[in-house]
Amino acid sequence: MKTEFNINNLIRENIKALKPYSSARDEYKDISINKMIFLDANENPFENGVNRYPDPQQNDVKDLLSKIKDVSKENILLGNGSDEVLDLIFRAFCEPNRDNIITLPPTYGMYSVLANVNAIENREVLLGEDFQPRIKQILEAADANSKILFLCSPNNPTGNSFTVAAVEKLLKKFKGLVVLDEAYIDFSEEKSWLQKLNKFPNLIITQTLSKAYGLAGIRLGVCYASKEIIKVLNNIKPPYNVNELTQQRAIERLKQIDEIDNEVAQLISERNRLKKELEGCNGYIEKVYPSDGNFLLIKVDDANKRYNQLIEYGVVIRNRTTQPLCENCLRVSVGICEENQRLLRALRAIK
Ligand SMILES: *Cc1c(COP(=O)(O)O)cnc(C)c1O
Repeated sequence: MKTEFNINNLIRENIKALKPYSSARDEYKDISINKMIFLDANENPFENGVNRYPDPQQNDVKDLLSKIKDVSKENILLGNGSDEVLDLIFRAFCEPNRDNIITLPPTYGMYSVLANVNAIENREVLLGEDFQPRIKQILEAADANSKILFLCSPNNPTGNSFTVAAVEKLLKKFKGLVVLDEAYIDFSEEKSWLQKLNKFPNLIITQTLSKAYGLAGIRLGVCYASKEIIKVLNNIKPPYNVNELTQQRAIERLKQIDEIDNEVAQLISERNRLKKELEGCNGYIEKVYPSDGNFLLIKVDDANKRYNQLIEYGVVIRNRTTQPLCENCLRVSVGICEENQRLLRALRAIK
């Protein structure tokens, strides 16, 4: 027997009952066209570019994203970084001290931090040796209170993408929501799952302007999901969660997609070059894992030692040796050519 997916069965009771905050600006956004005056929000009326509250629905940013990604605006929610988006998802669907989530270490650290903050049990099911999800074990770990399964693809820190078959199977078999974190999708040969949103009502895709789009400093995370899910998240987000300066910088940048594409192409080419160079670089580098991201995971003889040696050369990378399946592994971000050369010189110099 197949039961229809119903989002209402997953939403927390208090969230269902919530009456969202509403601002007058939600209804009368366009100051210039309406020729209205705004005496509703106790702002300072002297114009300086940011004296007004920002658009709570970030319409101009969403218009651009909608065009670029070919996704309807009603399927988009923006947050103060992916971290806020992920936190909103926890708060909408996970009942503290009752529900649980499933994560697949080694992976992005924020899922478990947010689980702890929200008093949600985190059931960890390690990836396989090939860094792919172990479907049977994941489904066995799930119960009626398993609200969210976090899939990070391409995965941080391993760099690989999960197979289409694995993701599809989990989307079909897992009874809760599947959050697919595509923070690194623009560096990958694999296709985004965005165009399949309509096919899977339990799919939430998160992306970010922090990586390929070169805007880590403005904090803008993007969530794509069914309009039912987006509506729930919209009801609980702080009304002005994306500030005016962030919206302005995002709009500027999104109008220059060619520039972004060009940078991404350069980083992919540097990544591939760096991988080859690292493989022939020094005997203590045992393995350089394939990567669909803008970083490489490297297995060395002694990660702590090599990490500290690089610091002596003024090169800061990430030591991942305490992560499961990542013993003696280091994660290196792909820099500009000169930075990668400096990394390689340091790696060749150390004994
Ligand atoms: C860097 C990263 C993010 C980005 O988070 P922001 O809060 O948007 O900067 C999200 N997920 C993963 C897996 C990441 O590595």
